[in-house]
Amino acid sequence: MTTLVPPARIGFVGLGNMGRPMAARLAGAGYELHLTDKDVSLATNFVAAHGGTVAPSLAALAGAVEAVITMLPDGKAVREVVLGRGGVAASLSPGSIVIDMSSSDPIGTREVGEALRAKKIELVDAPVSGGVPRAHDGSLSTMVGGDEVAIARVRPVLEAMAKHVFLTGDLGTGHAMKALNNLVSAGGLWIASEALLIGKRFGLSPERIVEILNASTGRNNSTEKKFKQHMLSRSFASGFSLGLMAKDLRVAANLAAATGQPSPLTALCTQLWSEAESKLGGSQDHTAIIKLLEAEDDAGASRRERGKTAFGSKP
Ligand code: NAD
Repeated sequence: MTTLVPPARIGFVGLGNMGRPMAARLAGAGYELHLTDKDVSLATNFVAAHGGTVAPSLAALAGAVEAVITMLPDGKAVREVVLGRGGVAASLSPGSIVIDMSSSDPIGTREVGEALRAKKIELVDAPVSGGVPRAHDGSLSTMVGGDEVAIARVRPVLEAMAKHVFLTGDLGTGHAMKALNNLVSAGGLWIASEALLIGKRFGLSPERIVEILNASTGRNNSTEKKFKQHMLSRSFASGFSLGLMAKDLRVAANLAAATGQPSPLTALCTQLWSEAESKLGGSQDHTAIIKLLEAEDDAGASRRERGKTAFGSKP
């Protein structure tokens, strides 16, 4: 079994916000790419800019490559692309490898892995962290689960996209780690948003709050990389949607339930992000959750104002 160094033939399914810059790194490294997306124009535009071949179907893609990367919204889409009718599993050769770099549900990943193993195809889960900017410069982190021989074969492919390659253990542990990472990240963003709005109501300047948090123990990735850039600026353009973050939290909550670990804050955080998704719409940037807290803040203020007047009018 060969290690997949350039110009090995790689299939890439899912050319969204993350998939495009990640595939561009592979093209730049000299891999021969066969690409597709549900939105075919994304594949056509990619090939015009970076080279490679637009695959006319998943079967054609799978028949042309040694490994397939999936960078899709969730585990359901991955299952459909891999095991669904006309999916890649039917046309990949024995000995080939599927690398799921999406943030998928780890329990589903183990099921897909078993189905593939029956066809002598390996599955490696290698979700990423770092967002769109780090996808562009190839400095993502990836957390990789699965068979160590298969991982060693695809390591050069992963290193073309990621600066940090962490082995996490058995298949699914990469996806579990990713969901847990996003749980911590989402909790940090939410609580910092609440702190910002509390401070603002008390008379602190939002810019000053962020500056002080970032020089103090309250800082986190969101206060450093998202608050000034996407929230105070009102650009809401981090490139990571609210729907995907809420999905990651549901994956983390399911994982908590499957392990039996009591985790009340995980449950609350998942509920808050899922409600935000219903209220604002999943396609909004995830940083837009502060708009919801601001709206509730205003509604609360007018409720309190009404209450005060009524109380004040009593003798
Ligand atoms: P995205 O929605 O921008 O892209 C997903 C792409 O998959 C779209 O182009 C869509 O057309 C395509 N697609 C969906 N179903 C398909 C199917 N059945 N067949 C072919 N193509 C299909 O999402 P994204 O932001 O690129 O994220 C991709 C994955 O990476 C998600 O699991 C997400 O949680 C994770 N992730 C995102 C970020 C980020 O900052 N955006 C960071 C780390 C991880």
